[in-house]
Amino acid sequence: MSSVVSRAAPTEEATTLTPPLTPPAASKGVKEEEPADANIPDNYVSWTIKNQKPRPPISWDNWWKELNYLTISILTITPAIAIYGAFNVPLRWETAVFSVFYYFVTGLGITAGYHRLWAHRSYNASKPLQYFLAIAGAGAVEGSIKWWSRGHRAHHRYTDTELDPYNAHEGFWWSHIGWMLVKPRRKPGVADVSDLSKNEVVRWQHRWYRTLIITCGFVLPTVVCWLGWGDFWGGYVFAGAARLCFVHHSTFCVNSLAHWLGETPFDDKHTPRDHVITALCTIGEGYHNFHHQFPMDYRNAIKWYQYDPTKWFIWVCSQLGLASHLKVFPENEVAKGQLTMQLKRLREKQEVLTWAPDSNDLPVISWESFQEQATKRPLVVVAGFIHDVASFLDEHPGGRHLIVKMIGKDATTAFFGGVYDHSNAAHNLLSMMRVGVLHGGIQHGLDDKRVPPSQRLRVARYNELASPYASSTAASDYEGMLG
Ligand SMILES: [Zn+2]
Ligand SMILES: [Zn+2]
Repeated sequence: MSSVVSRAAPTEEATTLTPPLTPPAASKGVKEEEPADANIPDNYVSWTIKNQKPRPPISWDNWWKELNYLTISILTITPAIAIYGAFNVPLRWETAVFSVFYYFVTGLGITAGYHRLWAHRSYNASKPLQYFLAIAGAGAVEGSIKWWSRGHRAHHRYTDTELDPYNAHEGFWWSHIGWMLVKPRRKPGVADVSDLSKNEVVRWQHRWYRTLIITCGFVLPTVVCWLGWGDFWGGYVFAGAARLCFVHHSTFCVNSLAHWLGETPFDDKHTPRDHVITALCTIGEGYHNFHHQFPMDYRNAIKWYQYDPTKWFIWVCSQLGLASHLKVFPENEVAKGQLTMQLKRLREKQEVLTWAPDSNDLPVISWESFQEQATKRPLVVVAGFIHDVASFLDEHPGGRHLIVKMIGKDATTAFFGGVYDHSNAAHNLLSMMRVGVLHGGIQHGLDDKRVPPSQRLRVARYNELASPYASSTAASDYEGMLG
């Protein structure tokens, strides 16, 4: 039984499970494996970082002992063959077309197979599709499904920490390729892959992995070009080595470029980012900010016009009956993440602006005192606030005389339509001239006149709002935005 079980006819066990639906011991003859993270301490991350010693730092004295010679060989010999071949083997158009095609086939093995199906269980795949993806993925020569998914689950769970095998905080080149060229500095954080251990396709691929990489990485593309149009060496160099090089660096970009270039429209807590360039480089895995927020969503790109061929491939497979149960995160929750980030940006803009003083920040002045002070400087009352309009007398578009007439008086009615229905900008500007609050002057029903238009939809943090959840002493039952 695969890790992905149809929900159409749930078994008794399956109904009691929360998704992903992975019935225990579903595979005949396979011993039930306890999840690797079943008994970890609550402070696992800090505990492990503190108590589990990393490998010694790489220095001139030990670097040759710290290298991973197998991956170095694969990642240097392949491009060497490609570069040497590119200068010595003519490229035929049939081979060029097939190489691009095979790049997408093997790339999809990783993106649609290793990544979205096995590492994240974002949809269910039929057996034929699973075998296709396992074989195609082997042609990308990036390790077995089980090894790859185990590292990737740790990457998601411990993003940007030392337990993340390709921790982006270690730098672009480390997360791109460096982490594979040396022995892992730490064991990746624990991540359960017991569901994959039970999957017969995953186990089959793991068992035959060496044969599969040689066959799918080099033999198959060479033979296709040789038997197809007699281009043995072109097949080996372009569809084999050069194509493999591109697939490698394309998928490596998901760990490097996708944590480095672009925007964070859903969350900026960690390094993953969204960018169309990354999407173009990675067969659609470029909307990585979304992906880290909603890893079980079968999509990376949520807009129809964004480039995500992996999503298109999975969708086509579902239309053909090869895939099912494509998981989509609730639109409402996705929108919340986006809105949070938008409000955060607005808040940053809001914070650099100067705002009108609040009634709590101003002295309370009696009508008599106001009258007396108005004989010395131009003070006008509007909506319970006392304004010093000295700087504005000569700037008033309606003329100085209209303001002078209101000095020492309440100009609320005149300001709000009695003489002229002032614009929002005028109201905002007036609020900046506040110097006091008239004692007993803020009457009920004046709220819309008291709060300048620019402050009616202010972005406020939860602890700045008077809510039952806030520590504010000014408890009130109004909620949401200030204004
Ligand atoms: Zn990532
Ligand atoms: Zn992922």
